[in-house]
Formats: sequence, C-alpha cells, structure tokens
Amino acid sequence: MGTNGRSVTVIGLGPMGRAMVRAYLARDYEVTVWNRTASKADDLVAAGARLAPSVEQALGANELVILSLTDYAAMYALLEPVTAALSGRVLANLSSDTPERAREAAAWATRHGARYLTAGVAVSPDVVGTPDGFTYYSGPEDLVEEHRGALEVISRVEYRGEDPGLAALYYQIQMDLFWTSLTAWLHSVAVAEAHGISVEDILPYSVDVADSLSTFFRFYAPRLSAGDDTGDVDRLAMGVASMEHVVDTVRAGGVATGLPEAVLDVFRRGVAAGHANDSLTSLRSLLRAGTVPA
Ligand code: NDP
Repeated sequence: MGTNGRSVTVIGLGPMGRAMVRAYLARDYEVTVWNRTASKADDLVAAGARLAPSVEQALGANELVILSLTDYAAMYALLEPVTAALSGRVLANLSSDTPERAREAAAWATRHGARYLTAGVAVSPDVVGTPDGFTYYSGPEDLVEEHRGALEVISRVEYRGEDPGLAALYYQIQMDLFWTSLTAWLHSVAVAEAHGISVEDILPYSVDVADSLSTFFRFYAPRLSAGDDTGDVDRLAMGVASMEHVVDTVRAGGVATGLPEAVLDVFRRGVAAGHANDSLTSLRSLLRAGTVPA
C-alpha cells in the first residue's frame, strides 16, 4: 500500500495498460507494473512506476490488480502458474473477451481466493484518465464501490450488474457496432481513393453521415421496441436497389466488394422473406433467427 493509501498493480503494458499507468501516476498513485516484454515498462519506470521482478511479486504488491491483456488466454498464461498468489487479491480484468469466458474466469479467480470484476474499456488509450468515456463493469457491486475511486482514475464506471458476463456482453455489443462501422468507413475511403478522391475530400461528408447515425438509432429504437416495421420512411426494396448501386460502383473502382455484398445479401434475404415494403428494421428478425450468414 502506498504512503498516501493509493496504490495499484497494472499487469499488461500494451497501449491501454500504459495509458492506465500514466493516469494513475498523474494522480499520485504508487503503481507496480509487470509485462511479459519487460522493456515496455522502461519509460513508465522513469516516470515513477515500479517494475515488479516477477508476476507473482506484482500480484503481491497490491490488493487491487488491473489486468490489461489481449484476451483471457493471456491472463491464464500469466496467472495459472502463480495461482497461490491470487488469494486476497481483487482482480479487475479490463481485457476483452466473451461473456462466457468472463463467467469462467470469475469462477476460476474465486476458486483461488481472489475477488473478481469483469470490465470492458469503452475508450481509446488517449481518453483514459480524462472525464470522457467509460468502462463497463460487472461482478459484486460492493467490490466496485470499494474500489470505485481507483477505477474512476481510468474512466467513468458503468456498472451493469452482478453477472460477471454482463460487462463483457455490453462491451462486445458495442464492439460489434464499432468495428463494423469503422471498417465500413475505411471501405468508403478505399472507394474514394480508387477514384483519386482523398480521405480529406470526403471527411466532412463522412462525419455528417456518422453524426446522422445517432438520429437514426433514436428514430428506429422505439419502433424496434414496439415491433413496428412500417415502411413509411424506408422500404427494403429501395435498400436493395441502393445497395446494388453501391456494389456496382465499388466493383467498377476495383475495390473489394465483400463488405457491401454482405449487406446486399441480407437485404435480399429480407425481400425474399416478404419484407420488400417493410422498413430495414424488419431485418432484425432474420438476423436474430440466424438465418442470414452475414
Ligand atoms: P495489446 O494486445 O496491444 O497488449 C496487451 C498486453 O497483453 C501486452 O502487454 C502483451 O504483452 C500482453 N499479452 C498478450 N498475449 C500474452 C500472453 N500470451 N502472455 C503474456 N502477455 C500477453 O492490447 P491493448 O493494450 O491495446 O489493449 C488491452 C485490452 O484493452 C485488450 O483486451 C483490448 O481489446 C482492450 N481495448 C483496447 C483498446 C485500444 O484502443 N487499444 C480500446 C478498448 C479496449 P507483450 O507486451 O509482452 O506483448
């Protein structure tokens, strides 16, 4: 425990773990770090962090241990050989993985005498330690409250419930939206560049589309809740025609068509299922039933 009563261990020094360490140091925490590739700690040690000589000693240094690893397999690779050192620790696992693996990890940690929180960091490293953005948490609520001060150094705390799978579930739902959206943007940039139009040329319009998505989410959400797929604003048949124009334009530019073709395929299946005159929202039932491969 640090002399000011504020101390933490951070295991994993990728871009995210490093940002967390810097945020703790900026708030005068005593920070013990450990990383498989020790050299990644060099500048953090120069900034005031302490590099533990072993992962076991990193665990022993503080009650609160933040894990920032690529996935849960990395956690087991590091901690399975030293499970005796887990007893009495609070593991806050801010690594990405599936809800089921989060539940298994919570049971595993508890078996070894640790208390466990699942987390999903919904911010990029540059936002860690700022008032913007948040991290999902699930697990014992009293544990979140006990360590709220330290957890809030990283970001705002969004507690989702006792089930250790919930934070991972909320996080993966968010990443489903995030990765597909960002890749769609990159795809549109590739099409633009294939025609000599730069990313900067289209940036204002790309931003406009991205901003407008939140309006669509708010418009469609109550309709989705009510099961109302009325095609008064958009018809799926219009969507098929529009996506065909997109795919043809993409192909003519020599750009990979897989992404827009996947969307067109879903649209066509919706029409084939009888939704030509319904809204895009009618696809939700097909997607939920798993009847569309995309
Ligand atoms: P990285 O994958 O870049 O680094 C993660 C850390 O995991 C490194 O310290 C790496 O060690 C360690 N690691 C990976 N595999 C093993 C292993 N088998 N044994 C031991 N250590 C291992 O991830 P980030 O720092 O970018 O992200 C950390 C977590 O945060 C991830 O789960 C990510 O999904 C999530 N996240 C990341 C965001 C981002 O923008 N970066 C945004 C939101 C969430 P070594 O240095 O030795 O390779």
